Amino acid sequence: MGGLGMGALAMGPRRKPLEAPGHSRQTAMLELQGIRHSYQLGGRTLPVLRRVDVRVQSGELVAIVGRSGSGKSTLLHVAGGLAAPDEGEVRLGGEVLSTMGPRGRAVARRKRVGFVFQAFHLMPGLTVAENVALPLLLDGEPRSRAIGRALPVLRDVGLGDRAQHLPGELSGGELQRAAIARALVAEPDLVLADEPTGNLDSVTADEVMDMLIARVREAALAMVLVTHDPLIAARADRVLTMVDGMIA
Ligand code: ADP
Ligand code: MG
Repeated sequence: MGGLGMGALAMGPRRKPLEAPGHSRQTAMLELQGIRHSYQLGGRTLPVLRRVDVRVQSGELVAIVGRSGSGKSTLLHVAGGLAAPDEGEVRLGGEVLSTMGPRGRAVARRKRVGFVFQAFHLMPGLTVAENVALPLLLDGEPRSRAIGRALPVLRDVGLGDRAQHLPGELSGGELQRAAIARALVAEPDLVLADEPTGNLDSVTADEVMDMLIARVREAALAMVLVTHDPLIAARADRVLTMVDGMIA
């Protein structure tokens, strides 16, 4: 009898890995608390985020709307760890980003976040497949495996036949599809998309947005989507309006 020895008992109750004690009730994928952020401009301080609180649950699609200059892009940068807030806490899947340095934030970001920007930011000298594989290569994945993972994602975004092309040979819609594939390739929990179809004509924009939302819904990812299009915002689970650096 008594298969459990003293050693097992001494280990105490099991605790889920990566969860600090007292935080087990946290289920938000992204949690911004009391975020303030400002830019320094010619010796002056320009406050851009003024006490922003946002929670995004896993699988939730949140749209952010608001006038140009209200702080939407800055909010996404802080949420994804591209910038550190002056004040406040950024939590990403339970990890506190706001106390990490730039290197720690970069590691957490590559593990959990896919960014999609309005300007596609593909590397002109790399093929489409290499561009999509880049986040994996930066994480140290061997080239053949990284490309092998990139190809099915390219097919998913409708670019299966463009893998060996250079970005200069693609249309705007195709470039953004490639950028979306790059955002998805490392299987993030959270997609941060900043007016992702703002540079596309309206027909192409609709197609690319449909594809992006379908991929995000299918994989049950959380997404924060900045858009000025009310029809797109209406497809989100929740719409937040930014006014002068605050959520209205
Ligand atoms: P939005 O995306 O809603 O248009 P942004 O977050 O891009 O707003 O910008 C908010 C404000 O911060 C604007 O007044 C903008 O000019 C200013 N701003 C943005 N980026 C910088 C920067 N790198 N340096 C200085 N000011 C900036
Ligand atoms: Mg912006």
